[in-house]
Parts: sequence; structure tokens; C-alpha cells
Amino acid sequence: MIAARLIIIGIVQGVGFRPFVDRAMRRLGLKGYVKNVGGSEVEVFVEGNEENIYEFLSILYNEKPPPAEIEEAFLELTHPQGLQNTQIQRSETSRVTGSMIPPDFAVCKDCLAEILDPSNHRYMYPFNSCAWCGPRFSMMYTVPYDRENTSMRDFALCESCLKEYSDHENVRRYHAQGISCPRDGPSLALLDNDFNPLNTDNPIVEAAKLIDEGSIIAVKGIGGYHIAASATMDDVVLKLRRRKNRPAKPFAIMGLDTSILKLLVYLSEEDGKLLSSPQAPILLLPKREDTPVSKYVSPGLSHEGVFIAYTPLHFLLLMHTKDKFSIMTSGNSAGSPMCTTEECAKSKLRSIADYFLVHNRVIVNRVDDSVIRKTGDQYVFLRRSRGYAPRWIRLKKSLRSPVLGMGGDLSNTFALGFDDKVVISQYIGDIEDPETQGELLNYIDFLVRVYGLNYSDITVIVDKHKAYHSRKIGFDIARKHGCRIVEVQHHYAHLFSTAIDNELEGRIAGIALDGLGWGDDESVWGGEVIVFNTMDNSYERVASIEWVPLTSDRDTISIKRLVTLYLAKNKWSFEEIMKILKPENEREVMEHRLVYAAFNQGRYVKASSTGRVIDVVAALLGVSHLRTYDGEPAIKLEAVAFKGVKKLLENVSFKQVNGLLVLDYHGIINEVIEKREVLDTPSLARSFLYSYGYYIGELVVRSALKYKIDYVVAGGGAVVNEHIYQGLKERLRLEGLKPYLPRRIPAGDGGLSFGQVASAIAFRTLTRD
Ligand SMILES: [Zn+2]
Ligand SMILES: [Zn+2]
Repeated sequence: MIAARLIIIGIVQGVGFRPFVDRAMRRLGLKGYVKNVGGSEVEVFVEGNEENIYEFLSILYNEKPPPAEIEEAFLELTHPQGLQNTQIQRSETSRVTGSMIPPDFAVCKDCLAEILDPSNHRYMYPFNSCAWCGPRFSMMYTVPYDRENTSMRDFALCESCLKEYSDHENVRRYHAQGISCPRDGPSLALLDNDFNPLNTDNPIVEAAKLIDEGSIIAVKGIGGYHIAASATMDDVVLKLRRRKNRPAKPFAIMGLDTSILKLLVYLSEEDGKLLSSPQAPILLLPKREDTPVSKYVSPGLSHEGVFIAYTPLHFLLLMHTKDKFSIMTSGNSAGSPMCTTEECAKSKLRSIADYFLVHNRVIVNRVDDSVIRKTGDQYVFLRRSRGYAPRWIRLKKSLRSPVLGMGGDLSNTFALGFDDKVVISQYIGDIEDPETQGELLNYIDFLVRVYGLNYSDITVIVDKHKAYHSRKIGFDIARKHGCRIVEVQHHYAHLFSTAIDNELEGRIAGIALDGLGWGDDESVWGGEVIVFNTMDNSYERVASIEWVPLTSDRDTISIKRLVTLYLAKNKWSFEEIMKILKPENEREVMEHRLVYAAFNQGRYVKASSTGRVIDVVAALLGVSHLRTYDGEPAIKLEAVAFKGVKKLLENVSFKQVNGLLVLDYHGIINEVIEKREVLDTPSLARSFLYSYGYYIGELVVRSALKYKIDYVVAGGGAVVNEHIYQGLKERLRLEGLKPYLPRRIPAGDGGLSFGQVASAIAFRTLTRD
């Protein structure tokens, strides 16, 4: 007889882990108990014969519930206590404040099988879930994850569900907090545009029929509303674009399963695994040439954003449509967050949707779908939300006091660090809208409360950009609660984020490529090489790219203006510029004349911005003229370039400006201008992007390597551009180096908050040794 005590850390709460441990002990005739301690950790005490205990340990790893993850396990052999049975002990309430909030999980295979089995009493039940799957964070009022702390508390378990809940032989429902059945669970209704219920006994089948007929349906899901519509009928897609006031931004497509998605996109086995994982993100994959999807779903793009039906409700809906896939885009009005309530749907979605498929379970926390793409052979996050948030990322050092990173203004997330953990919020979105700012404050409150922190202990970290709402809100919080406030430079935060996400320590050269971040010299940065050390909070900007003039916000929307500004800076005459731009009318000529004059009168700021350089090339090549959504010109240029052949363009030069090494790329832009009439656009686009990345790599080699760096990291939204990344990677490979990309955190501004908090480990005053 031996005994073992185990502490297991990871995603072990809200996933049926304790019942699983209990069952495994029973199966092997072992005695012991399992309980939650400190919330995120599970403690197991087990005794019995040695062979069975080793068998038990292997079962822990190999047969654990599908969404469970073991991050770390500590084992200590100890003395048997002569226990008589096995037991799930009540959570220790003393420290539940530390508990991990489980993210939402996609419906599991077994729950799907039940709703498709006519003999099962959950046949066609749209809210089926079990210990392994279903909503979690989106329905939690507080921790720990117990039914009375979720919006399932409105639905009392019926006798048969209660029986399953109490039966420890019931693998998927014993102790499962969110379970329900048609008798006791939430119910559906299909409403018309005036919110009057339609006379139907099967709202799902009726809604599917309406989609097939070309109607647009708002669907209340688990983390918010979606808008569902046919993805194959051009007129329907265009109608949706008009109603949503969204001329070009791509819509995501949800398919019944990966076998359906294979008809639309090229999908590897690995991609299939990710799509079918409990996180079930939207994945951007190359379109098939013979895709049945309307070209208006993602106009001008090479990739389609696809995901699978991740709730029984979505599955049953798509199953009854003719196509087995449909547009499934966020249910919001332009600039506003996705709706989570009927009230919001009534005021904001009635002008978009013809019908509403709703249910009566409260959505407590808005959780948008996560979006992932591939760069090189790595998956990278564009948006980290459902399935991932609000999981924490652990630091190698402990923070002395809590730290709140406010993030940026676009694709906002915030992050809360305490002890050795950083909890990154779900996607909050663009926070210009006062309503979204209110949401941001509420979600900050939520995390501060459930983790039992005091505002007055918190250090608030903000971006240096004076006009950022996130910064103002951070200052308001600090003023109200007397918090300490720290400013962290935008790109330094991006690079720290990548370093810590990859668990790198030491001297690091960072490459930050993005659209806009406020620099330390009162100019706009976005093409920088920064050398820093994760052990101290000093950093040095060692290289940059030649700047582009910016006269107003309008320049980044109507991007031909940038061409005028760029060429004016390079001493082209107005007439020469007009020959290049070929304006369509006198009004446009006038606009450019004003822009040209503004530059010559010195009314501009300097922007060493990768985003703006790409905009210039996208406009010169006629790939894009207008930014109707964030990143549009760059995304379209990348898409076009996939069809081209790459060649390293050679006309660049390097110069020293006030101790800074600067890449002058005007030679390769000239080459683009000269060759646009003779060379195909895809090859020019690809060669430009590839070369740009290659010379950014050259900047690193010439400026940063003398610092004896340990690693090279990349951050900012533009580093995930495939062609730029390839160029960068190939130049660095010649030096035996590789650029690390973020793994669990978005490279763009959605990852800023994590970087802000992570950078706190470099502040000696904020960390424990
Ligand atoms: Zn399930
Ligand atoms: Zn029931």
C-alpha cells in the first residue's frame, strides 16, 4: 500500500475533472478524495496498491475530459490514511478568489450524438451540454463555476437531470453544473421583425427554411447575437452588406462540420483539428477555386473565415438548411459591440434582420468568436475571445501587486495581472463608442471582483497616445481609486508581449510593424527595431523606417492622399503626381491640391508607419483606394500577392539619422511605380512586401546584433503578413536567427494589454524576486 498527494494545475475546473478523478479511483479500487484548492488547482489524495496508483496516474493524463488541460502536476508520495471510500470534497471556499474562470467550450461529440438520436430524450434539443462542453464564462455571474453562479440558475433541474447529476457512474453529467433537458432547460422562439412570435412548433426548422428563402435572421447564441444569411445567394449577401452598412469587410461562414467546410476552403488535417477543438475558432483558410460561396462574402480576399457549428442550436439550424453552411457574422450595428440582450436586438438589429431566433437564457458576458490565421506554418490570433478568454497566461515571476493593462483603442482587450498570472479579457472591440467604454469598465469590475482584488492596490498601465480613450479611462480609474499609473510605449508593449508569450528571457531585439503607435519623440511609430532586456525596464530604439507625412485622419481612409503626401515628400511636382494618380474629377484634384499644400506648409506629423507604407503601395497598384475596415488595404495587398512570383527588389539604402539607423525604401517604391505598366500586379505586390520584410531583417542585422542579443521577436499587426514575414525570416536565417511570433496572444492591438502587464515584470518595484 502506498499513498500519493497530487496538486494539478491547468484547466481543471468546469470541465468535469473532479468527477473524472473520482471515477478513475473507483475503477481501480483505490480510495481517496479530490477537491478544488485555490480554485485553479485540484488536489488529489489517493491510496491503494502501487501498481494501481501508477495506472491511475497514466489515466489522469490519457483519459482526462477532452477540454481539460494539465499545465503542471506535483506529486508527493506519502503515508496511507486507511480511507474507506472515494469522495469529491466541497471546494475550499477560503481561496476561491483565485479560481480560473473556464472559457466557453464547443459542443462535444457525445452531446451531438444525443440530439441526433430519436430515441434519446434530448433529441433535437438545442441547449444540450455536459461536463465536457457548453457555455461557461458567457453565463457566469461570479466564481466558482457552480450552477447558482450562472444564468442556468433560472432553470431548476428536473428529476431525471437531477438523477444524472447525482450518479457518479454517469461520466458526462455527474456533478456537471450547466446541464438541462427539454423539460427544464431554456426554450426557443422565432420572432418576426416586430418581435411577435411566429406561429410554428419548430422555430429552428422554420428559421432554416427562411434562410434558404433569402431571409436574414438574427440568432441569439451563447456569447451574443449572430446574423445568419445564405452565403451562396449574391443578392442576399449584398442586401446584408447594405443593411449592415458594411461595403467590403468579410463575413465569417459557419459550416455544419469540417466535411462541409472542405467544399469551401483548403483545409489540412491540423486545421480540421483546430476547427473541431473545444475552442472552435474562426480560421482563415485559402478559398477553393470551385467554392460555392458568393464572391461578395469576402470580396478581393484569398482566404475565407470559416468555423463549425459549435453549439447544438447552430448545428440544428444549419442541418436544416439546404447548403449546410451560412454567413454567421456578429449581430451588431457598425461601430457598436455585438448585442447580447433582446433590448439591444430590438433597437439595433431590426434594421438588419427580418426575423429573430431567440432563447430565454441570459447572456451574462459578451464573448465574440475568436479569429485565427496562419503565418508561415504557425497559427496566430487575430482575435482571442470565445474558447480562450478569460484564460490566464502564467509569468515566470510573481507580481508584487496587481497590474491592470488598459490596452489600445482598436480591438481592445484589457489584462489583469496578479501573482504569476495574467488574465486577458475577451475581445472588447473598438472603444470609441461610449457604450463600449461602459462595457469595458464593467468587465474590468467583474475581473477585479471575482479575483478578490482591491482597486487601490492596482497599478494601471496606459499607452502613451494622449488621444486614446483607453488611456483616459485608465487615468479615471487611477484617480477614482488612488491607483499608481505607469505609461508604457506602444511597440515596447507589443514586443514584450511576444517575448513573454514565448517564455523568452534576456536581451532581445524586437521588430514592431504596425499602423500607428505613439512614439517617445512625439511622432508616430510603426516600423521599429527596439532592443530591450526582459530583466530591466530600459529599452533602446535602434532602427526605424523612413517616415511618411500625415496631415489628417482622412489620409488613412482615402489612401490615394497618402500617395500624394509620400511623393510630395520625395520632391515630385503636383503635375507629376496627378499623372500617377489619374484623378477622376475636379473635386478629387482639388482634394489632392490641398493635401499637397498642407505638406509644403509643414502641416503634418511624421509617421514611420509600416501600415502607411503598405497603403501607399496598395493605392499605387490600384488594389485598394478606400479603407472601409481596419487593415483593408494591407489585407487586400497580401491577398493579391499570393498569386504572384517574388523577387528581391534591390533599390534600398540605409542611413544614420541622429544615431538611429533608417531604412530608406523609396527606391523600391519607385520600382513599383515604374514597373506597374509592364509587370503583373500580384508579382509586384509580392516582391514589394517580401523585400520590405527582408530589409527590415537587414535593419536588425545592422543595428541590433552588436548588442549580443539572445532572441529576435516580432510584434504589431503587420508582422503576420505572410510575405513580409517570409522576407524577414529569410534575411534572419542567414544569421542563424529566427523571428518569434506571438503564440497565444494577438500580434496586433488585441495583444497590447498583455504586453503592458508583462512589461511590469521588468519593473523591479512591481515584482517579487
Ligand atoms: Zn457534451
Ligand atoms: Zn431535465
